[in-house]
Amino acid sequence: MNPTLSELEAKAKREKAVFGGDAHIVCDNLVRIYKTEGVEVVALQGLDLVIDKGELVAIVGASGSGKSTLLNVLSGLDVPTAGVARVAGMDLLSMTARDRLHYRRSVVGFIWQQTARNLLPYLTSRENIELPMKLAGKRRRRERADELLELLGVADCAGRRPPEMSGGQQQRVAIGVALANSPQLILADEPTGELDSETSEQVFEALRTANRELGVTVVIVTHDPMVAEQVDRTVGIRDGRTSSETVRREGAEGQIIAEEYAVLDRVGRLQLPRDFMNALDMERRVRLELESDHIGVWPAREEPSE
Ligand code: ADP
Ligand code: MG
Repeated sequence: MNPTLSELEAKAKREKAVFGGDAHIVCDNLVRIYKTEGVEVVALQGLDLVIDKGELVAIVGASGSGKSTLLNVLSGLDVPTAGVARVAGMDLLSMTARDRLHYRRSVVGFIWQQTARNLLPYLTSRENIELPMKLAGKRRRRERADELLELLGVADCAGRRPPEMSGGQQQRVAIGVALANSPQLILADEPTGELDSETSEQVFEALRTANRELGVTVVIVTHDPMVAEQVDRTVGIRDGRTSSETVRREGAEGQIIAEEYAVLDRVGRLQLPRDFMNALDMERRVRLELESDHIGVWPAREEPSE
């Protein structure tokens, strides 16, 4: 029997109430605790993140802030301790081993920082890209590999093995490997970390091309301020939580306007930038005042001294 209109409305309402709704990537209060020799390290402590389909997002943050942990969770390699992680409607915490294999093979593609980790050294570029298609039982492998090499600007490397290519060329071929099975999402953990700035630019351009031409969602962890400046949205991570966002848009005269945002979580917590707090000597508590269109934040009044 078909659901009635009111049932459908109730369902829509329930779905809307879920954090992030049907966004492509949803992390809600994500926690990852590592235990080594009795010591607990909280790598992610309640991270919230929503990314839409087709977005190109950079993730920045100090070393140890949890960026790689987040990417490992999103790639299906690692299972979080608690919270929600959903990609393309799939629940990364509760999926079966079989679904996980399918997820890692066909839904998501991954590029590591270490060029040597992305490609098999004894296979040519074309063979490296054909390999994941072979494992997934795909056909037309050679055509697809050559199309990807062309798209990524490394068609001339088709017959070369990794030791016969530059670091930048290897990373562009690695993007081809990640794209081989037409994933919906690609994740890159500091893909330009071992490269000079000119080569980095080519690798980044290849990621942008994949995003634009294939519509694939791209998430890049980077230290490179240049990369962070060229994406629509940069998400800052601090102490295992998303703390800030920079959104770039084009102004009326074609100029790029960058707006800084603090991330507000579901219960209303937000993190003030350290330099703002320092500039006004804010610590421990602040005074808030609700105005008609904004909230004022002041340093707490000095306690009257005896
Ligand atoms: P980033 O990529 O931002 O540098 P990571 O996600 O690698 O940060 O690490 C976040 C925190 O988790 C760090 O304190 C790190 O030492 C810790 N950590 C990461 N991986 C492990 C692991 N396998 N075992 C124990 N601690 C880990
Ligand atoms: Mg890292």
